[in-house]
Amino acid sequence: MIVEIVSTGTELLLGQIVNTNAPYLARKLNELGFDAVYQTTVGDNRRRMSNVLAIALERADIVITSGGLGPTQGDITKEVSAELLERQLQLHEPSVEHIRGFFQRRRLTMTNNNLRQAMMPDGAIVVTNHRGTAPGVIIEHNDKTIIHLPGPPMELEHMFEASILPYLTKRFGGQGVIISKVLRTFGIGESTLEERIRRFILAQKNPTIALLARSGEIHVRLTAKADSEPEASALIADLEASLREQINQYIFGIDEQSLEQVVGEELCRQKLSIALAESCTGGAATAKLTDVPGSSSYLIGSVVSYANRIKTEQVGVDAALLQEYGAVSPETATAMAQGIRSKFVTDIGVGITGIAGPGGSTPEKPVGLVYIAVAGPQGVVVEEEHFSGQRTAIKTRAVNSALDLLRRYLQTKN
Ligand code: ATP
Ligand code: MG
Repeated sequence: MIVEIVSTGTELLLGQIVNTNAPYLARKLNELGFDAVYQTTVGDNRRRMSNVLAIALERADIVITSGGLGPTQGDITKEVSAELLERQLQLHEPSVEHIRGFFQRRRLTMTNNNLRQAMMPDGAIVVTNHRGTAPGVIIEHNDKTIIHLPGPPMELEHMFEASILPYLTKRFGGQGVIISKVLRTFGIGESTLEERIRRFILAQKNPTIALLARSGEIHVRLTAKADSEPEASALIADLEASLREQINQYIFGIDEQSLEQVVGEELCRQKLSIALAESCTGGAATAKLTDVPGSSSYLIGSVVSYANRIKTEQVGVDAALLQEYGAVSPETATAMAQGIRSKFVTDIGVGITGIAGPGGSTPEKPVGLVYIAVAGPQGVVVEEEHFSGQRTAIKTRAVNSALDLLRRYLQTKN
């Protein structure tokens, strides 16, 4: 079943409000297995709205509109569609009663304008609005179905859940289900990742594969359509297994899982505590860890050891070592991780030091050079990273890389 979503309202075209109704309807319809493949937005203009509806009725089986059912002169959706379908508008008595009751309960005076909302096309199914006054409308016209929903999102969403969804499933039966699963990767570039799974991307049909880059992470979204949820899940599981053979080491989580959540879960599971010494990231890695509810059970604290004096006094880095290798070096990162671990008496210590730029670089130590060390019961690992971009981008990449190194440390040692 092809569906077109038509959003009406000049405010939408002017960019004065953000269209949330269309994405909402698209999500719901796709979940139900309908092919919601067209979206149109049109202002409160009779001629243009009529054209849009005529086009929609040609290419879609079901047309769902949002907005323009209210009492004002700008609210014309029903009039336009009634004219297009050559149906008369008649006063619908139960709707008049509903609207009157709505006003009485709120001690408001009803004006004649409000009766416009009770004018319904001949032969339409009237849908009660439990959250407002303007009823919704369903018109079955030849082999097409037109559904008019009110604009305010609260009203539209409630009406969709309460009345439209049951109507659609009853009338059109199961359309199958569509489900998606996102494999979240870190530490691999988009083109390299694509290269590794090219075979599957080229052969994709059901499930489909989409790659999305999100601040250093590449998300691989698998979407399957089948008659039932178990069948769709099985299709996804098969493809996921094949993809994992190629890229498993880069996959840190699924769907909504973030790096800091995965790290938090590992620390909890292994009952390990953690402390950090951060230089170029200025405490941002620690802040990320605290975004996870319950982080107080493993995060002990951190030191933003920007100046060398703080690295020695507060973190316990040997002044001679700093002198010899410099603040941005694998030796210093390691000493920071070990130092904070012993100062704060934790299982795991993390040290991050680097050059976020734009100043402070030397030919040997360019902007974007970052060392990250993790010290724990199984020894120390330190990684050298070269990031490009602006200062804030380098900091963000350093934070994410530190979290990913932590994740790999925690996952491989067990
Ligand atoms: P009303 O009875 O409130 O006039 P209506 O059905 O006539 O409702 P509109 O007049 O088109 O709907 O829109 C009313 C309000 O609903 C808008 O001012 C806006 O706040 C919200 N709205 C309308 N369309 C959308 C949309 N597509 N996405 C988000 N909000 C919307
Ligand atoms: Mg209105």
